[in-house]
Amino acid sequence: MGSMRKDYVSERFVIVSQNEEQNEESKKCPFCPGNESMTNPSLLSLVAKDGMLQRLQDSEDNYVKDWTVRVFESKVPAVSVSAENSYSDRPLYSEPAYGYHYVVVASERHKDSLSTISSEQWSNILVVIQDRLRWLYTQRGVTYVSIYINHGKDAGSAVSHPHINMVTFSTIPPLIEQEAEASHRIVNEKGACPLCQTVNTETGGPRQVLQTEGFLAFCPWAPSYPYEFWICPKKHTTSFSKITQKEINDLSLILRATLGGLTTSLKNVSYNLAFHLSPEKKNSRQIHWHIEVYPLTAAWSGLERGYGIFLNSIPPEKAAEQLGAACRKELAGLVGII
Ligand SMILES: [Zn+2]
Ligand SMILES: [Zn+2]
Ligand SMILES: [Zn+2]
Repeated sequence: MGSMRKDYVSERFVIVSQNEEQNEESKKCPFCPGNESMTNPSLLSLVAKDGMLQRLQDSEDNYVKDWTVRVFESKVPAVSVSAENSYSDRPLYSEPAYGYHYVVVASERHKDSLSTISSEQWSNILVVIQDRLRWLYTQRGVTYVSIYINHGKDAGSAVSHPHINMVTFSTIPPLIEQEAEASHRIVNEKGACPLCQTVNTETGGPRQVLQTEGFLAFCPWAPSYPYEFWICPKKHTTSFSKITQKEINDLSLILRATLGGLTTSLKNVSYNLAFHLSPEKKNSRQIHWHIEVYPLTAAWSGLERGYGIFLNSIPPEKAAEQLGAACRKELAGLVGII
């Protein structure tokens, strides 16, 4: 399997793997009900029965049917627990790309998307993710769990059936490390969490997109991508793994409303979404957790690729106005006030 190589000089990680492209000979969607044998057996199949949600699991030759959310190990994993145990030091730094790569199929219906499913279904998905997240953090070699969505071809999604990825790492990803370091420094200097301050600044301001009881969605002051927005708990919390069912329901509502608003406003644009959670290891630096959504409306130029400086032709204030109108409409439809 793959290895994690580090750049000669910087802390940039690259996973080099030799996953062969998934066999495209079959036109069948591997994530659709009836095609369960095309994926690895499920680790968790959520089945709604008599108004209750059952957590079941495939056994040998017996696939759980009538699921509404299904989790299994990816057949084209970015990391693997069978990664070869080989290490080397700088300048040719390499470590095994060790970890778990789960796929969470978000609906039994192929034509659904994460911006059209009900907010109740979003709750089901988040409950399953929270369950897997807690389990993964009890496993050896898991230092960090990333949770992300690729929607659309431009976003790196090979399968159009709605799904979410969970990939673990034995180190903390560089972007999380940077956010945690910077956050820690600011807390020490100013005595307050920078994201708590951001929530204060952005609530009711020109970049607010939407708010619910416990969450705020806003376009950040310095967005890397046009129409980029973040969803942030208003209350200081360091990880999604600890939030309550009530908070999950509230988060489902704002996720569904904002993703719905995004896709109606920008005509089913491709996007990536990433959960930024604190590492859960003892003594690791913490962040106020949040979700970042990156719509992909334009290709990168040499400035982004070559220098890490982002050109954004849509001011976040304008983006927030447009997204805000669309998201408020979605929210009204969801909670039944039209
Ligand atoms: Zn499908
Ligand atoms: Zn905070
Ligand atoms: Zn972040």
